[in-house]
Amino acid sequence: MPEYECGGKDFFVHPTTEVDENVTIGKNTKIWHFSHIMKNTIIGENCNLGQNVAAGPDVRIGNGCKIQNNVSLYKGVTLEEDVFCGPSMVFTNVFNPRSFIKRMDELRPTLVKTGASLGANSTIVCGITIGKYAFVGAGAVVTKDVPDHALVMGNPARQTGWMCECGEKLDHFTCPVCSKSIQQKSGPISLVDLAAQQQKILPQIEKNIQIVLTHGQYIMGPEVTMLEKKLAEFAQVRHAVSCSSGTDALLMVLMAYGIGPGDAVFTTPFTFIATAEVIRLLGATPVFVDIDPATFNLSVHKLEASIELVLQAGRLKPKAIVPVDLFGLPCDFDQINQIAAKSNLIVIEDAAQSFGAEYKGRMAGSLGHAGCTSFFPAKPLGCYGDGGAVFTDSDETASKLKSIRVHGKGKDKYHNICLGINGRLDTLQAAILLPKLEIFPRELESRRKIAKRYTEILSKEKGFLTLPEVSPGYESAWAQYTLLAPDKEKRAVMQKRLKEQGIPTAVYYPEPLHLQTVFADLGYQRGNFPVAEDYASRVFSIPMHPYLTYRDQLEVCKGIEPC
Ligand SMILES: *Cc1c(COP(=O)(O)O)cnc(C)c1O
Repeated sequence: MPEYECGGKDFFVHPTTEVDENVTIGKNTKIWHFSHIMKNTIIGENCNLGQNVAAGPDVRIGNGCKIQNNVSLYKGVTLEEDVFCGPSMVFTNVFNPRSFIKRMDELRPTLVKTGASLGANSTIVCGITIGKYAFVGAGAVVTKDVPDHALVMGNPARQTGWMCECGEKLDHFTCPVCSKSIQQKSGPISLVDLAAQQQKILPQIEKNIQIVLTHGQYIMGPEVTMLEKKLAEFAQVRHAVSCSSGTDALLMVLMAYGIGPGDAVFTTPFTFIATAEVIRLLGATPVFVDIDPATFNLSVHKLEASIELVLQAGRLKPKAIVPVDLFGLPCDFDQINQIAAKSNLIVIEDAAQSFGAEYKGRMAGSLGHAGCTSFFPAKPLGCYGDGGAVFTDSDETASKLKSIRVHGKGKDKYHNICLGINGRLDTLQAAILLPKLEIFPRELESRRKIAKRYTEILSKEKGFLTLPEVSPGYESAWAQYTLLAPDKEKRAVMQKRLKEQGIPTAVYYPEPLHLQTVFADLGYQRGNFPVAEDYASRVFSIPMHPYLTYRDQLEVCKGIEPC
């Protein structure tokens, strides 16, 4: 083996390789045939440079780097230690080259951090930083910084996972082979984290969107039918009728049951405006019933009394009950259905926040005559826009809903049998929901684990708060984890302090519906529903999503101090 002496050090440079002046080559480093090391370049110890490698001028290569055949490291490229450059991978050094414009003074530096691997034929656009132990797949074109331990592939490169130091793909941030785990990149804590979920299923979402773009059936495409079938299976009902939002789901059901002027519809004042808005839109009258202090949901005892009062007054005809499963916790439907049966009322479950929740082994959405849910992005199962669905076991109701959804269509949309709306779910949203529904059961499990951990931490240390409780027989979907502060002022102080520490909170809902201006004509007053009014002044919700880490939870809890 010919030994090329350069300053009498113990490294090896093949005689066919050119080494310019002022180059430093570390101990035990080997440089093979037909390479060129340009001036002022520094190569560390124990490196291996293959055939036809060009490095320099002014390039820094750390210890232990392995550079395969046909790689050029131009000025501006820095490799930290133990970097792997696969065969024929490419670094560029000018962002927008033109052969006829001199741009060498516009070099953008590229940094490859310790332990990173750059696959064969990959291209790293200049100005990029590749994180520690990151892994760039063969042929990828990297156009954005790559975080530590990230696995990226494709053109343009996208992150598809995380990699261990040992080169194995991580499963939930832990290596299945060497058991090492990495700390999840700690971004800011958010109330809901849609990005973390997207990272898990992005390839499936992109694939599904691409399929829709190809077949072009943007309205009522095959994905809508497929989704409805899967939703019905999930909710254990005969029919799931998808629609344009949770609000339209409620509206369509009320329309299907012919609810209108003169009808009383019983519901809670402690909910999102949509619940009562749709009742009023149809000319019916929302009759509010105060909430149960333990569950935040419509009080069953007060419901009976309220129906009695309406009957006695004789002005309105009791027609339906719209119980809302607030924050993901189902109402007591056995009792509600019993009361409804006695007075011949329709039960419409507002499951906008509780899709995935359970009540005595039955699924939320299936607990009344019809159930409505929302796929608003922040709901437990959300799409990337507006969407919703109605669940029912009644063939007749389902067929009415399908007509109302398309302008009250009869045998086709140009023959109309009743008043309807444009209430369809976009095919694209269905395509996005399909992969989300696949991971939904695991996300629900994660939400439950996270809620349990919050309760464990907070019940030990924060006696000044009232925590959410879930009775036996119930499983919440944990749309929110909502606490009760001792009073309104203390809530404001706690929220402010948390905000200062970068921890967001929210108040659902600051004003009960009977006190909203829009419902002033219903004649309610402050004091009518003392529990809802009291809770509106004291509730606040803390970050809750399936990808919240234990560390983040501890930080949230630490930030909640008595005042
Ligand atoms: C979100 C929500 C709705 C409305 O759903 P959209 O999809 O936003 O129209 C209705 N009721 C409750 C309880 C909600 O939380």
